[in-house]
Amino acid sequence: MKFATIITIGDELLIGQTIDTNSAWMASKLNTIGISIKRRIAVSDQWKEIWSALDEESKQADIILITGGLGPTSDDITKTLLARYFNGELIVNQEALDNVIDIFTHKLKRPLLERNLKQAEVPSTCKVIPNKRGTAPGMWFDQNEKIFVSMPGVPHEMKGMMEDYVIPHIQKRFELTPILHRTLLTAGIGESFLAELLISFEAHLPSEIKIAYLPNYGMVRIRLTNADGRAQEKLDACFENLKILVKDYLVVDRDISMQEYVAEQLLASKKTLAIAESCTGGYISHLITSIPGSSRFYLGGITSYANDVKENILNVPKSILLEKGAVSEEVAQKMAEGARLKTGADYGISTTGIMGPDGGSVEKPVGMVCMGFSSKDKTISAVFQFRFDRKRNIELAAIHALDFLRKNMG
Ligand code: AMP
Ligand code: MG
Repeated sequence: MKFATIITIGDELLIGQTIDTNSAWMASKLNTIGISIKRRIAVSDQWKEIWSALDEESKQADIILITGGLGPTSDDITKTLLARYFNGELIVNQEALDNVIDIFTHKLKRPLLERNLKQAEVPSTCKVIPNKRGTAPGMWFDQNEKIFVSMPGVPHEMKGMMEDYVIPHIQKRFELTPILHRTLLTAGIGESFLAELLISFEAHLPSEIKIAYLPNYGMVRIRLTNADGRAQEKLDACFENLKILVKDYLVVDRDISMQEYVAEQLLASKKTLAIAESCTGGYISHLITSIPGSSRFYLGGITSYANDVKENILNVPKSILLEKGAVSEEVAQKMAEGARLKTGADYGISTTGIMGPDGGSVEKPVGMVCMGFSSKDKTISAVFQFRFDRKRNIELAAIHALDFLRKNMG
């Protein structure tokens, strides 16, 4: 088994100004090709900190991946440090220079500053990793059987380098067996109850198969893993067994999101969807339209925040709004039906609720959300109660609305 450490560099990461998404993405990529992640650490833009992180992590891991500190500004010192650390000097790399000139003269059409030209300098002791999406080249160092790779902090530049160069080169360099995972998604049951249900299953799991519960948005993913990559058949057999045990809660037996699953189902059944959102403010539409190809099933959404919009655009009767209130099952049903009829979609769904922190009452507390579903055969609703802050309540309501759609569509 080969081990990797990921070092992310930048003061902004330590004070929480930028969330370190790089190391999560890199870790999952490395994991799929069979590399175990030893540590993920963030360090500041300081010489001493970066130097000691390199010293420390090279004792632990075979592969040390670094991002950040490659910009043209004074706070970015990684490159100068790496030149020193690997006993080289900074020299201009012609390919990187051509790239910088091309970006400034053709793409940005801006004058080239001295500091931008410096982007083409690399330590003389590295192999240069081309950057097709930006000016800072990546650097690959081999030392004492270990690999050190330095990439820019900008996430899409790092991802391009990883996919085009770093991952293929690591695979060439080491003989790796991929770590095997099988994952399923459940809904409608909490992780503790699932664990109760699976006590005997867990007790009989072969030692080379590990189980993990991954709760998120009120749904729980269960993952079975075989780390040495040699027990595919055993893993598959355990997974089939697991599927039977959780069958009442099973959404899908692959590692995809609720919105991706719903999208697949709509496409397969050639049905279309429209959404009327009040309290989720367009978030469900955002989740749906983030899926490539959603135009093939998603007709549109109406963010009907005000009562007038619910009434005039979705045809929710004023009498129901006055009598039952905007947050009610009756209004949710009319909204879902209105969205369906207005757009001609096969299915309409809706949300109306109180997301907080204010606006709750005894009968309608903060976190209460009514959801509607409408097809030509039926129009129904349900009430959910969430108990988090506004942002999380919106996210939860959106995923539960999609789950409500999943359960009710034909
Ligand atoms: P740098 O290579 O240090 O100039 O980083 C450029 C930009 O990339 C920073 O300003 C951040 O916005 C972003 N960035 C740096 N490190 C990370 C990281 N670990 N995760 C996500 N974004 C990052
Ligand atoms: Mg930086």
